[in-house]
Amino acid sequence: MDTTNIKRVLVIGAGQAGGEAAQRLRQGGFEGEITLIGEEPCPPYQRPPLSKAYLSGAMDIERLLLRPASLYADERIALLAPVRAVWIDRAGKRVRLEGGRELPYDALVLATGARPRPLPIVGADLDGVHTLRTAADVDAIRPRFIAGAKLVVVGAGYIGLEVAAIARKLGLDVTVIETAVRPLARVTSPEVAGFFLDEHTRQGVRFVLGGQPALIKGRTHVTGVALADGTEIPADLVIAGIGVTPETTLAQQCGLELANGVVTDKQCRTGDPSIFAIGDCAARPMTHFGDRVQRLESVHNAIEGAKIAAATMLGKEQSVETPWFWSDQYDLKLQIAGLFQGYDKVVLRGSPAERAFAAFYYKGPRLIAVDAINRPGEYLGAKSLIQRSQTIAPDIIADTSRTMKDLVAAAGQ
Ligand code: FAD
Ligand code: NAP
Repeated sequence: MDTTNIKRVLVIGAGQAGGEAAQRLRQGGFEGEITLIGEEPCPPYQRPPLSKAYLSGAMDIERLLLRPASLYADERIALLAPVRAVWIDRAGKRVRLEGGRELPYDALVLATGARPRPLPIVGADLDGVHTLRTAADVDAIRPRFIAGAKLVVVGAGYIGLEVAAIARKLGLDVTVIETAVRPLARVTSPEVAGFFLDEHTRQGVRFVLGGQPALIKGRTHVTGVALADGTEIPADLVIAGIGVTPETTLAQQCGLELANGVVTDKQCRTGDPSIFAIGDCAARPMTHFGDRVQRLESVHNAIEGAKIAAATMLGKEQSVETPWFWSDQYDLKLQIAGLFQGYDKVVLRGSPAERAFAAFYYKGPRLIAVDAINRPGEYLGAKSLIQRSQTIAPDIIADTSRTMKDLVAAAGQ
């Protein structure tokens, strides 16, 4: 693709990735037209506070916005919202919007994110049963999120546990149902999951692990959740956090390659050189992990994709950073660097009993990831090691008589 011929860029999806891509492109010196198409009614905003401060009521919508609404006009970024893009004509390089309007493009960025999986059981459409992805979802939940209300959370992933933590803080009665035998099964090891299970239990959350929701009970409003073994848990409110599926409807319609997301190269380009895909909807080769093609669901990944796609359109290079993530639950800050999948050894540094420790994941001698709980030094140290493909031997990392800074410095020699 000759980047000098790009005069009109369309970005579909005005979320974290799409908003960042438009901004990076303009700040990187792109002088042409940028149009950002979003189906939600507000400018791009951050989702992490939705299951944290926005849910608790400690943050309002203005503070959620990635940047003030007026900046889009100031930077000549046309924000079309709320409107849905419904068709891509690759041969004619045009996108059709709901209502029939068509927009031409020289380069197109798909930043369509992901959709929550709906609960696949009878009763999931009852009043009081929610998923949590958008500010509107939280606005609908909040009036019911009150002290004494009986909340059943289905799914003990990040959404489930973050919601449970805020709910306990506000005095709700909380039960979490999870089909797996431990929480956070997709994202961390049994050691770290066990720690979070103990913490939530101590805070008064009840867990049903290995539980299979079979039916949501109620006439018009939810009254309970029945499990496959016949147990019934009373509920005024049900929140499902059972994962997401990438939003690939448009990519599929126009014939792009899909494999759990829109497949791209390292420059975030799809098989069509005029079309990029970034954020939760896309899967690309991960530089620090043997170029394994992977779809990630995180703020860092959305920003990284936006930076890479904008740089490629500007004919520039963009260095890549090792993936990182975080989660806040009660007074616990979990910080994650790297990708733990495929580890064969985990070593703890510090003590879970002190509520400040880090789990280091190894594949052979190689350090591939860290989960640090209230241990920012371990997180930063491990992140820089993974970034530089350096390691610290597993038998040395557990030695807390040496500071993390010393260990990182020694690894670099
Ligand atoms: P999104 O932010 O979902 O944006 C996609 C946008 O595209 C949406 O607005 C969607 O409506 C729009 N769209 C889709 N199709 C169309 C169409 N055809 N036309 C127009 N618009 C369309 N990550 C972390 O790293 N740390 C956290 O603590 C964290 N907390 C989270 C808490 C919650 C409650 C949620 C839901 C997510 C959290 N995440 C967190 C994940 C992170 O927010 C996502 O990975 C990130 O938002 C992905 O950005 P995105 O732009 O790819 O997708
Ligand atoms: P998730 O991390 O995939 O967790 C979903 C959990 O629900 C999994 O443990 C899953 O178990 C379980 N589950 C699936 N089907 C179930 C069922 N029918 N009944 C009971 N449990 C079931 O997804 P999530 O927590 O819903 O989060 C959604 C998105 O928001 C993700 O992209 C996530 O990364 C993002 N998010 C991130 C953060 C953060 O980074 N701090 C915070 C909130 C949200 P199996 O794995 O066994 O299927």
